[in-house]
Amino acid sequence: MALLQELMDAYEGKIVKPSDALLHKTTTLLQDGMNARAFGEFEKPEALGDARWTDELILSTWYMAETGKVPDELNFKTGESDGGFDRLDFQFLQEDDWLEHSDAIDTKLPLNRRGDGKNEIEIDIPWYGGGMSYGSVSVNVMMSRAKNAKHWNTLMSTGEGGYPPELYEVKENVITQVATGYFGVEEETIQAAPIIEFKYAQGAKPGLGGHLLAAKAGEEVAKLRGSVPFVSLFSPFPFHSTYSVEDHSKHLDWIETVNPKALLSVKVSTPHDVDMVAVGSYYAGAHIIHLDGGYGGTGAAPEIAKKNIAMPIELAIPKVHKFLQKEGVRDKVTLIASGGVRTADDIAKAIALGADGCVLGTTDLVGMGCTRCSNCEGGPSGRGCPWGLTTTDIELQEWVQQDWGSRRLDNLYTALQWRLRDILRKLGLSNVRELRGRTDLLSYISKEAGE
Ligand code: SF4
Repeated sequence: MALLQELMDAYEGKIVKPSDALLHKTTTLLQDGMNARAFGEFEKPEALGDARWTDELILSTWYMAETGKVPDELNFKTGESDGGFDRLDFQFLQEDDWLEHSDAIDTKLPLNRRGDGKNEIEIDIPWYGGGMSYGSVSVNVMMSRAKNAKHWNTLMSTGEGGYPPELYEVKENVITQVATGYFGVEEETIQAAPIIEFKYAQGAKPGLGGHLLAAKAGEEVAKLRGSVPFVSLFSPFPFHSTYSVEDHSKHLDWIETVNPKALLSVKVSTPHDVDMVAVGSYYAGAHIIHLDGGYGGTGAAPEIAKKNIAMPIELAIPKVHKFLQKEGVRDKVTLIASGGVRTADDIAKAIALGADGCVLGTTDLVGMGCTRCSNCEGGPSGRGCPWGLTTTDIELQEWVQQDWGSRRLDNLYTALQWRLRDILRKLGLSNVRELRGRTDLLSYISKEAGE
């Protein structure tokens, strides 16, 4: 307790909410700098990006988030990872056979395929926002995402940090997550949600659970998580109440009792037997099976885990899709993919591999200014992201204002939907649901051809 008091005293009065003048100056400079880079007024920073999120992909995402359009000069489709989505291409028709680019190209996705009287939810675009907990990100970031989700008639997930009261304003578009730490899980937040997401594992760090550093678990975060300030919070792996499909089924029954209309989503990572896991989840009652591959996660997820444990999502999707088909239940469940889905091209490729839709996490953060610097834990101070994204620091979190954040995401989603329609029309498809499982419309770019 002495250490705790020392920490609280150290923070007391030293980090305060920024004044209006400082807020204006800092956000203006940050946003002008981001735009200048995205519009090519300055050279690309040498240290920006990595093989999956290249400098061009980050800058093109910033460009789309500012303008709502895809850029002419920057690659907004792929990274340079030498594998997975980056080595897949589309087999477009001859130009004479392309459809007109039109709003009539249908991008809607129904989420309840069981016909069981629960919420009939149809989202306007085949993706929604993945879970990022309060604590790992600020309320401003959560609200930016949630307001944008409402605008697009789609959803975003709370992640595992509880349900900040501000979210009630947009509750129809907010998925509540129940994860192994049960942080912030309350009857009223389950009753408020159209979909409840059980997180069994996260593709970026399967088998490891989660860890919110003490410095990021400030007073508000601790309150929502039922803890005390400045204490490290662990989400164990796995649910220690679940060792079989029957246990899993009991979990889902519990939610059904509290909120009988809610859809049930089950988020799993991608071990080699993920196909069996998916079928088990379906028989336990899941409406959505959410596969999370190994390339997602913020900079807080350990690199060694991100790249080496879970199966790449590009392998997991067709494996599960085909197994569900073989079992005769493919059209009764919605298959959602995440963990390395960055662009509209990735979304279309994931659907062509067999998913119904995708979840975006990092893309949203990049849209709001993330540079992929992997400093989400915030260095020695532990204050978190210097851009104001993965932080609840009283000062830093103000660099992302809700109106600005939701406007950026609105623009980004406009550009993503435009590109998705562009891909569909060039494949001769007028509905995104016709793309599911069409691996014949993909081609592999061999190493020789890619060079
Ligand atoms: S610290 Fe901020 S800018 Fe850097 S990777 Fe994390 S969210 Fe992105």
